[in-house]
Amino acid sequence: MTTRKTTARKRTPKCGDCNGTGEIAETVRVGKSRKPRETGDQQTALCLTCFGTGTA
Ligand SMILES: [Zn+2]
Repeated sequence: MTTRKTTARKRTPKCGDCNGTGEIAETVRVGKSRKPRETGDQQTALCLTCFGTGTA
C-alpha cells in the first residue's frame, strides 16, 4: 500500500484582519468622537494586527 505524506503544514497562518495582505482598507473619517463622519473615501492602511506582515 502506498502511504501519502501530506506536507501541507501551514507554517505562517494568515492574518484574519487583512487576509494576509498586510493592508486594510480603512474608511476615512473626519471629526472627533462626537460626530464621526465618514467621507466615503477609503485609504489603505497598515494592518495593526500583524503590522503589515500578513501573518498572524
Ligand atoms: Zn493583518
